[in-house]
Amino acid sequence: MEQERFKEVLRERGLKVTNQRLLVLETIADRPGEHLTAEEIYELARVKYPEIGLATIYRTVQVLVDLNVIDKVSFDDGFVRYELGEAGEDSRHHHHHAICQECGKVISFEGDLLETLEQALYDTLGFVVKDHEVKLTGYCRECADRLEQENIWRNSVEDRKSERREESEREKPE
Ligand SMILES: [Zn+2]
Ligand SMILES: [Zn+2]
Ligand SMILES: [Zn+2]
Repeated sequence: MEQERFKEVLRERGLKVTNQRLLVLETIADRPGEHLTAEEIYELARVKYPEIGLATIYRTVQVLVDLNVIDKVSFDDGFVRYELGEAGEDSRHHHHHAICQECGKVISFEGDLLETLEQALYDTLGFVVKDHEVKLTGYCRECADRLEQENIWRNSVEDRKSERREESEREKPE
């Protein structure tokens, strides 16, 4: 059960198991891939635990960040967001983010080809990589499709305009 795992994570890190800490962890875990802000965590946590305060959430989140139980993530939209960190997540590889610069959607993905690069860094420079963060920006499938359609449309309008221009030039009396 999730709660048992979180209790263990907290104990392993020498943290007391408190309702607030469990609540924050469960709230984040309940929304996988959502990357909540402290205020969003607060709104969701309040449903289960109405007496919790925003200040407590801020404090709890900070303690959990300091111990890598949760991670701070930023998608350059002016908000600090949180997700389960290395110690809070089961998967061996931490996921990464692809951010759509059109609609702001954040797509999480696992796996990258960085192990090869990390090994090469070690082999050539002796640099030991402990962690990495990957943030890719671009267009999600929907936005890429829409932009492509708009481009096709714009190009066809441009084509028609230039055809007309050519025609009118041809029709010009010499
Ligand atoms: Zn994430
Ligand atoms: Zn998009
Ligand atoms: Zn990676």
